[in-house]
Amino acid sequence: MKYLFSLIIIFSLSINKSFSLEFKGKFEQGSFILGKTNSNSKIQIDSKKIRVSKDGFFAFGLGRDRINDVVIKIIENGEIKTIKKKVLKREYKIQRIDGLPPKQVTPPPEVYERIKKDNKLIGKARSLDTPYDFFKNKFIYPIDKYIITGVYGSQRILNGKPRRPHFGIDFHAPEGTPVKAMMDGEVTLAEKDMYFTGGTIIFDHGHGVSTLYMHMKDIDVKVGQKIKQGQKVGTLGQSGRATGPHLDIRLNWFDIKLDPISILE
Ligand SMILES: [Zn+2]
Repeated sequence: MKYLFSLIIIFSLSINKSFSLEFKGKFEQGSFILGKTNSNSKIQIDSKKIRVSKDGFFAFGLGRDRINDVVIKIIENGEIKTIKKKVLKREYKIQRIDGLPPKQVTPPPEVYERIKKDNKLIGKARSLDTPYDFFKNKFIYPIDKYIITGVYGSQRILNGKPRRPHFGIDFHAPEGTPVKAMMDGEVTLAEKDMYFTGGTIIFDHGHGVSTLYMHMKDIDVKVGQKIKQGQKVGTLGQSGRATGPHLDIRLNWFDIKLDPISILE
């Protein structure tokens, strides 16, 4: 009897010990979070089952206006452990831009179909869930010399009209500046002329993590092409709805738009 009891204790200790969970990133609105667990664990974020790489890495992100706690479930050997994390609130800037041509503030009806088609292509690229695990590595800045003229989350007021918040980082630099891949990945969208975003590229870094570059002048890559971090993918431009030459980069976890700063710092 005594023998059996100690066996049970050892067994339950080993179960507790086998749960392993680490996070890199702030639990804050707009943040990208990198997680690490045992390779045989399953992870759910807000009751959505997400992909875990063969060495235990997973990724998720927190939206700009998220207020609910994050519910993380870790499932291993039939045991479930639930963790709740608070999400820190952020203050966002208000950015007013006046004197824009009215067409740029409210698109004319004749371009609605084009915008719908663009959004469908972008949405499809962002919905991919591939086994690539490039997202676990350190990202680099896409250009060398720049001035940051726009940040994530700003509420935009264009010609006095409230518009969607800005979800990217704007890097101002001369037109034609070489633009580099921030991380290894696969090109899932390469379009020369989208209505809002102009020359647009989307890179898939695995597990629903993608980056998007917009307003490009030239695009040197094709859909399906594998790219390496630091590789030149095109040049900076002012195509689409842009008020001057700049590169606007975006970070997504599926359809959730995240702050690119959270992978760069
Ligand atoms: Zn921008």
